[in-house]
Amino acid sequence: MKRILLIVTVMMTVVACKTNPFTGKKTLNFYPNSQIFPMAFAQYDEFLKENKVVEGTEDARMVTNVGQKISAAAERWLTANGYPGYLKDYRWEYNLVKDDAVNAWAMPGGKIVFYSGIMPIAKNEAGVAAIMGHEVAHALADHGAQRMSAGTLQQLGAVAGNIAISDPEKRNVFNQAYGVGSTVGVMLPFSRSHETEADRIGLQIMAIAGYDPMEAADLWRRMKAESGNAAPPEFLSTHPSNDTRINNIEKWAPLAKEEARKFGVTSFKS
Ligand SMILES: [Zn+2]
Repeated sequence: MKRILLIVTVMMTVVACKTNPFTGKKTLNFYPNSQIFPMAFAQYDEFLKENKVVEGTEDARMVTNVGQKISAAAERWLTANGYPGYLKDYRWEYNLVKDDAVNAWAMPGGKIVFYSGIMPIAKNEAGVAAIMGHEVAHALADHGAQRMSAGTLQQLGAVAGNIAISDPEKRNVFNQAYGVGSTVGVMLPFSRSHETEADRIGLQIMAIAGYDPMEAADLWRRMKAESGNAAPPEFLSTHPSNDTRINNIEKWAPLAKEEARKFGVTSFKS
């Protein structure tokens, strides 16, 4: 019995441990994407059913258009770096939802939500691109899956086989792991290192998509001005502090532009 357990454990480790091309790190995901993604897709559909999706407005179209450009940029980067087909299981979707919360989030497999409350802070297309780059980066770097592996696994128990999570308590755990929701205190913030990673990768892909990565610094200045109000953790979290974040972005933006030039991008929309 012990031996079987050991073999199973070793097998799971081999299956789950992979190097992420964006972070260059080996990440241990207890659940492979083939199990995580269907769960995420089902939860996303349910979220859209339970919330008001904005359709046909200029903002809604902008969120979709920018999302498509950003994920296409990620695809180009991956292909150029020897990972063609890496995103084959992703099912990109970008929705604007009517909700005053200053928030946006990404679920594994490329399911993105923007809340209408973040649009005034995004301010323009480049601002949307900065948020989109950050959110898409969380999805690309498997941050949700890692968080689920680390903290919420035991609580979730044997949920992996169930596609739709019907038990409300387990569903809540799942949504917390992915930062889904708008209620303060319900979402778990990403760790500082995940946030920093998402900022760096986000700048890279927004630049390849043709947006000026320096716009992300201005976005975070606007976030900082807003953060006096009570707000959900993903977007107005204090870690990394807004000032650290802005400094990092200003340091990384020229590097992101340099990388984008390798892809023939010579002008950057601001
Ligand atoms: Zn984040």
